[in-house]
Amino acid sequence: MDVTASALSPRRLTRQISVGSVKVGGNAPISIQSMTTTKTADVEGTLQQIYALAAAGADIVRCTCNEQAAAEGLAQIVPRSPVPIVADIHFHVEMALAALEAGVQGLRLNPGNLRKPEEIKLVASEARDRGVPIRIGVNAGSLHPDIYERFGGATPEALVESARIELAYFEEVGFSDVKISVKASSVATMIAAYRLASETFEHPLHLGVTEAGPLPGGLLKGTAGIATLLAEGIGDTLRYSLTADPVEEARAGRQLLEALGLRERKGLDLIACPSCGRAEVDVIKVATEAQAALSELNLPIQVAVMGCVVNGPGEARHADLGIAAGKKRGHLFIQGQIVRVVPEDEMVAALVDEAKKIAAEGIAARLLARDESAEAEAEADRALLLDAKGLDVNHSSERIERIRHRTEG
Ligand code: SF4
Repeated sequence: MDVTASALSPRRLTRQISVGSVKVGGNAPISIQSMTTTKTADVEGTLQQIYALAAAGADIVRCTCNEQAAAEGLAQIVPRSPVPIVADIHFHVEMALAALEAGVQGLRLNPGNLRKPEEIKLVASEARDRGVPIRIGVNAGSLHPDIYERFGGATPEALVESARIELAYFEEVGFSDVKISVKASSVATMIAAYRLASETFEHPLHLGVTEAGPLPGGLLKGTAGIATLLAEGIGDTLRYSLTADPVEEARAGRQLLEALGLRERKGLDLIACPSCGRAEVDVIKVATEAQAALSELNLPIQVAVMGCVVNGPGEARHADLGIAAGKKRGHLFIQGQIVRVVPEDEMVAALVDEAKKIAAEGIAARLLARDESAEAEAEADRALLLDAKGLDVNHSSERIERIRHRTEG
């Protein structure tokens, strides 16, 4: 039974906006964002990174627009990008206007950086006339000083108030094509801020733990914050902020949404047992090799690598395909049914071969094509292993006898 969807709270319905071709909010799929690390003026280098991000799962990519050369770069990047481009304009109103001129599909304004009301309203008016949405991107680390003072710090209430004030400026010029983020590097602050934002605004929310840091800690912090909110039905788009290759951000976003059942699986899901004293192979090595070989195929398939034939196929019976090790041989199974027995050194190759065949022919056809003698061979291996593990290698009976002799005598 698939309990994935029902395990999460119903998604909170927000007003839908369009970032280029990508819908954000309402019942649109939760989208994944990342940000380039190249100089935006380097058009070819930036496009290369955008393509890599899109291939890893990013639906929307943000580029910095901090100088005229960056805005000129954007004008060339936007028409060649496979995904919509959002410009981050930092402190200068001219850069926001130049990015709009370059044809970007979205802007990000930080209320702590662009502070003059007339400039904020000018950008909002231009965006309104061009049909370009804006993210109000509040950040605890760069909160407007007046708000920081009023609330005595970057509290969740202060972050939401900053977004509310910015939104009010936008509404003065009749602009509400907006999504909102209230990020903090503290997971607890960020969770509380987004909960409050979801009660306060009907606009879509962009989730993220800011400055989460390098792997693996950054990934854990990002997941702790984002997954908690998604499980509560909060959030319409997300970005992991990692001190790493941004491809890791896109990959993490994709994997999180797939794991929560919020996006359809696009690539490989490799599951593997943690290994234990029963393992008949080096599970870490086989799983790593299988992951490398199968990832290249880009198939939406769940594959299991299990250390022993005694428990493996049963524990991973929900996987589309799997292999379990035993007696120098691998038992290849499809949805828990043994289809072939292969020599140990051919386990990874057999997995790749079968994965390709499943992609081409389907699971039912591959089950029909199974080796008729495989189940019996596998059963014999299991019996032998159970027997071997059942030997009294500790000579328990003799020890018990001696213990009794001591205590009773
Ligand atoms: S599948 Fe076998 S080796 Fe892996 S953890 Fe379970 S019992 Fe141990």
